[in-house]
Amino acid sequence: MQRPADVTLKDVLVPLSMVAHPDRFGGRKHQDCLFGDLVLRDGVSVGMQEGGGQRDARRLVMPKLVESHVHLDKCHSISRMQNVGGDLRAAINAQAKDRALWTTKDLRARATRGLRELIESGCRVVRSHVDWTHGAEVFSPPLAWHVLGELAQENRGRITLQACPLTSIEDLADLNVAQNMAGLVAGTSGVLGAFVLDQPNRRQGIMNAFLVAKDYGIALDFHVDEGLAHDLDGLELIADAAIETGFAGPVLCGHACSLANLEGEGLRRMTDKIACAGLTIAALPATNLYLQGRADGTPDRRGITRMRELRAADVPVVVGTDNVRDAFCPLGRHDPCQSLAMAALSAHLDPPFGDYLDMITTTAEQALGLAPTYVDGAAIGDLLLFDATSTSETLSGTTRPQPLSDVLRGETT
Ligand SMILES: [Zn+2]
Repeated sequence: MQRPADVTLKDVLVPLSMVAHPDRFGGRKHQDCLFGDLVLRDGVSVGMQEGGGQRDARRLVMPKLVESHVHLDKCHSISRMQNVGGDLRAAINAQAKDRALWTTKDLRARATRGLRELIESGCRVVRSHVDWTHGAEVFSPPLAWHVLGELAQENRGRITLQACPLTSIEDLADLNVAQNMAGLVAGTSGVLGAFVLDQPNRRQGIMNAFLVAKDYGIALDFHVDEGLAHDLDGLELIADAAIETGFAGPVLCGHACSLANLEGEGLRRMTDKIACAGLTIAALPATNLYLQGRADGTPDRRGITRMRELRAADVPVVVGTDNVRDAFCPLGRHDPCQSLAMAALSAHLDPPFGDYLDMITTTAEQALGLAPTYVDGAAIGDLLLFDATSTSETLSGTTRPQPLSDVLRGETT
């Protein structure tokens, strides 16, 4: 096998937050980045040299992105729907009607478009939820499960696709169902998901999810408290179950909109419990901004979880794209940078933006049960290059990232 050439990439920025050991990495501090010439040896990024310092930074290197929460079975279906709009219930109903059109060909075309967008946006890992069957059919995977399984195989090497069944927590209240699903995912993606809102038997369903996840050694991923009602308790029930069962994780909890109802001591108590339970929270701003806080006029509640307070309490937080051009969110594209930019605006995450890149890279990887990838020690194939002079520019959509390996094919030192 041919040995990869040693390469020095001149005048680049690397966000400090994307370096595991900045003290040993080299380079000169420039805002929230390190600046210098990036040294790649034997196909691996090993550090920076300060260079002549005569030129300005033109490009930025960081790890490829991780999309922690999308729905490739639903995406890009909005154009054929009529009279859509409204709250979460309205979206669920509209999407249920659309399901009649979910043939193999249709699912393949839409999910392939979603995967293409993810790859073009610089992603190397994505978790997609897959709406599950109910009633007597609950033991049989839906068509979308098979289609995404095929696409995962076909795109291996370009992107890792984790498919996660999205059941109703009501279904998991039946231990037989929970065991069957855990057995199914233990042999495939290794993650079991459920939708938790106000179902009467949610407590039992949550407990069963933890019991079977522990038995089978799989991860958990909940859609939880996707609403602003004051009596939603799913997140707290999940935290209690995680603590009671001593589950080692990972557990990713998407939405958690109703955390916005808490403040002061009550909020502190909850964020401490979430941290103690080892949960990661996924903020999903696009769908929440569109569906939450609906009234007759302009919305005055944002529906975004308490990103700032959670991070201050050392709870890992990630940002996901969630729905793209479907009944739940009629606009958008699959792009973690765009989603992080939206989170920054909607949750008032102030610059420097390097501080938040972990939510679409290293922390997101850990939330999906994977080891985090930092620039130091990363293989060339795991790195991206942006034509950007700051972390703000990487999130502004003015430039598309390129895989560093593609750039280097035409690059000399
Ligand atoms: Zn979702």
